[in-house]
Amino acid sequence: MRTEAVTSSRLTDLEHKRSSVSAPAAWDYAPAPESREVVTLRERYGHFIGGEWVEPRDSYTTISPSSEEELAEVGQATPEEVDAAVGAARAAFANGWSALPGAERAKYLFRIARILQERSREFAVLESLNGGKPIKESRDVDLPLAAAHFFYYAGWADKLEYAFPNRRPQPVGVAGQIIPWNFPLLMLAWKIAPALACGNTVVLKPAETTPLSALLFCDVLRQAELPPGVVNIVTGDGRTGAAIVDHDGVDKVAFTGSTEVGKAIQRAVAGTGKKLTLELGGKAANVIFDDAALDQAVEGIVNGIYFNQGHVCCAGSRLLVQESIYEQTIAKLKKRLATLRVGDPLDKNTDVGAINSKMQLDKITELVDAGKEEGAEIYQPACRLPEKGYWFAPTVFTNVAQSYRIAQEEIFGPVLSVLTFRTPDEAVEKANNTMFGLSAGVWTEKGSRILWMAQQLRAGVVWANTYNRFDPTSPFGGYRESGFGREGGRHGLEPYLRFE
Ligand code: NDP
Repeated sequence: MRTEAVTSSRLTDLEHKRSSVSAPAAWDYAPAPESREVVTLRERYGHFIGGEWVEPRDSYTTISPSSEEELAEVGQATPEEVDAAVGAARAAFANGWSALPGAERAKYLFRIARILQERSREFAVLESLNGGKPIKESRDVDLPLAAAHFFYYAGWADKLEYAFPNRRPQPVGVAGQIIPWNFPLLMLAWKIAPALACGNTVVLKPAETTPLSALLFCDVLRQAELPPGVVNIVTGDGRTGAAIVDHDGVDKVAFTGSTEVGKAIQRAVAGTGKKLTLELGGKAANVIFDDAALDQAVEGIVNGIYFNQGHVCCAGSRLLVQESIYEQTIAKLKKRLATLRVGDPLDKNTDVGAINSKMQLDKITELVDAGKEEGAEIYQPACRLPEKGYWFAPTVFTNVAQSYRIAQEEIFGPVLSVLTFRTPDEAVEKANNTMFGLSAGVWTEKGSRILWMAQQLRAGVVWANTYNRFDPTSPFGGYRESGFGREGGRHGLEPYLRFE
């Protein structure tokens, strides 16, 4: 009785206090910009070959897509410069790296992982500056995962014999690696960590629009005292990529990017004996059943398509909602979209940053126009987009037919196409009605249905009651036009090994 009396008198006090403070009229976020000071950019960068900076013959300017500000001059590598990089990688392979005991290679990988952790703020800021992604994503996703990949593959370096018992795993040689602009440092980690763990050496080309984190990574390599030539970074556009693919001294090609370029690379490599892995586009279905926890599913839809501006190969770009919960789901989704903050990538409050390039913005705009023309209904929340830079508001299309371009083609932007289904069979049929097969999502409270769906869906990765979760221990890769080969996990070692 006494406790109750005390509690009720405290409550009265609180109520008095509460009423004496006037509630703020507006709840706008105050700006929370991350400082750019942690990053020191050079005016001009060369290629990183044989552990040295080599002055490039040609160069171009890399910009910030959120402001169009010029950031630095970087090299446009010619076939001769690619040849020098491959030569350095070959020499490093032959002069000790491939013969180094796995435990010694692991030490370098552990060092790189730790340095990335120590310098993660610097890298996160640079990634957002050069690529346009929100700082909270580069800080909380790209950087921790990049370090985790190096840690993870460091652990495998001295255990290859156990990973592939009785198969006598050997390194392949020089790996030519070509990566895209959506996760520049993370894709670099996905490529370099397993290659080095297996005893290969590397020539890597970052995407034309996002070279800076790969160039800063060269600093990490020096800090880690990685032997010269083990990793070589050349910058440039598609011509540089093609020169790597075509080089006779390259033993293995690893590519992440568009299906179109992936196909061209497959043609170029055919008959040469080079090993190849292709991680290409996607048009994933995110399937919501009527028994799903709807508020969580809505968060999953948002994370599935608006994470990294939808510049994600496994983005949940086709939403399949069971008809009975369609109205409710769309209403909740629209309400949630109104809370997304689009703007300065370096502001810690930002949810959706800048589109990576003018070219990508044009592509998104073209496909969105096609969606409108074909008869889909467009919804965009009210949001003020910055005047400079490349921006696209989060977009939802309803009334979408399966034949529309927005339901078939990879938009690679913050654009969701919504379709409906009545039965699980219809959901499977619609989800698989795509030339891609990279990923899918399933939302239901029924465990048996999750397992059944996972068996039916033709996708390399199926997330259940979550979306866009990555882990270095999990293999990732696709079917059909999404490519072949797996990255991550024990599977990710195999493309970098030959077996005697
Ligand atoms: P690309 O496939 O052209 O780029 C990927 C990488 O390949 C880049 O480093 C690129 O260089 C390089 N490259 C380009 N042409 C060649 C070539 N002939 N030989 C070897 N390497 C080459 O993608 P884009 O950046 O042009 O984007 C186009 C579309 O691709 C996007 O709209 C999106 O739909 C899709 N895409 C899919 C990705 C995925 O992860 N699935 C990633 C990126 C894009 P450069 O940067 O100079 O072009």
